[in-house]
Amino acid sequence: MQWPELEALSINVYLHRDDAISPFYSGNKFYKLYYNLRNASAQGAAAILSFGGNYSNHLYSLAAMGQELGIQTIGIVRGYETAKLSPTLEDAKSFGMKLYFLGKKAYKSKDISELLPILNKQYGHLCLVPEGGENLAGVRGCLAMGTTIDQRMRNLLGDKPYTLCCAVGTGSTFAGLIASSPRAHCVGVSVLKGVDIISPKIRRWLSLLGKKELTGWSLSNEYHHGGYAKVTPELVEFMSRLEALNTIKLDPVYTAKLLWAIKELAIAGYWDTNNREAPQSTHIVAIHSGGLQGRRGFDLA
Ligand SMILES: *Cc1c(COP(=O)(O)O)cnc(C)c1O
Repeated sequence: MQWPELEALSINVYLHRDDAISPFYSGNKFYKLYYNLRNASAQGAAAILSFGGNYSNHLYSLAAMGQELGIQTIGIVRGYETAKLSPTLEDAKSFGMKLYFLGKKAYKSKDISELLPILNKQYGHLCLVPEGGENLAGVRGCLAMGTTIDQRMRNLLGDKPYTLCCAVGTGSTFAGLIASSPRAHCVGVSVLKGVDIISPKIRRWLSLLGKKELTGWSLSNEYHHGGYAKVTPELVEFMSRLEALNTIKLDPVYTAKLLWAIKELAIAGYWDTNNREAPQSTHIVAIHSGGLQGRRGFDLA
């Protein structure tokens, strides 16, 4: 990346462009949904059902991938239906996804007990995927991310170590990355505010993958900018500047917060070679996990 402040600190940041996979199922959701869709096909499911909010990257990607593969998708949306759908849901619908709305309270516990008999009757056997694709199939899909990056970094740096940084929502992508990046130190940047409920989940995924011994990772909880999908003017300005310098687009929910954290940690000396708590590498790979369609939920250029 072109990033003068970090270059001045002798830190090289490489952006892994998973946003370039496709505008429709870009980024980590492609990996997280890959085995979920394959499993649904293998089970002979009539449709695949999942959950998300009005600007959900997950529902959007699921709808697009379902259309591509000829699999019926059903989106359970948090909240009540409004007269005008969000652009995300409008697109999901045009990709063939059937949308149902669930009040916030029922949504919280993903209680679809009233809806399920109706859906079963209408569609037949349904395959359920958790919100955000947070299941073992989702984590497994992300193993390909770490493996690809490792190969590329070997080509660039030989055997030298590198650091892998990734925005973290549910932590399932990050778990897959850790499991497939034994050579890298992995730093996750949580976009959620509050007590860390993610680290135990990551340990559980690693354990299920038989990779419990991998401890070269840490999760940062300090760069959420007020919580999920909250933005500050500083964040938006920072994001626009990096976008212009690198001819890329970022999203304010995930990737802008990730890069912000990398900058803050660099300033704090986290990546200094004498910091024993941190990865001893000045080569940092930041994952561009996509999510650009979600920019439409914000008033951005
Ligand atoms: C969903 C998403 C994430 C978070 O992935 P998790 O596996 O839930 O941690 C990160 N970046 C983008 C762009 C996303 O859409």
